[in-house]
Amino acid sequence: MKKCPKCESDNTCKLSQIYESSTLVVDTKTSSSGIGLSSRGNMGVGIGNSSTSGTIKSVMSLKCAPPEEPSHAKEGWSIFIVISILSLILFPSNVSIPIVVLSGAIIIGIFAYITKNEMEEYQEEYDTWEKQWICNRCGYIFIPK
Ligand SMILES: [Zn+2]
Repeated sequence: MKKCPKCESDNTCKLSQIYESSTLVVDTKTSSSGIGLSSRGNMGVGIGNSSTSGTIKSVMSLKCAPPEEPSHAKEGWSIFIVISILSLILFPSNVSIPIVVLSGAIIIGIFAYITKNEMEEYQEEYDTWEKQWICNRCGYIFIPK
């Protein structure tokens, strides 16, 4: 266990661990919510507690979620496909295959450059996320030294 640098609590956990385990907790809550609704009047306290902890965990999982993967590579490909199909439909006699291929290559080149930079940034963010811990007492997110 790593100590929280802010409040010195030992009650800390890796972000990646919380994210994985809280995803499971949310699933459990969803599958048992039917029981919770039908018997809420009779069993209010017990059901209420379990659903509350489920909600807190799912908020935690949002807070502990890894950075989002960039999706520009896919966009680049779909733009290229749409442009080539559109140009073939709109100007079937004017468009030659080399022009489509050339413009596609330029678009893909630009997107490959953007994607490469984004992937490097994403990789850095992901590495940081994997090293980060969260304090369960005060909620402070830190990287242990
Ligand atoms: Zn703390």
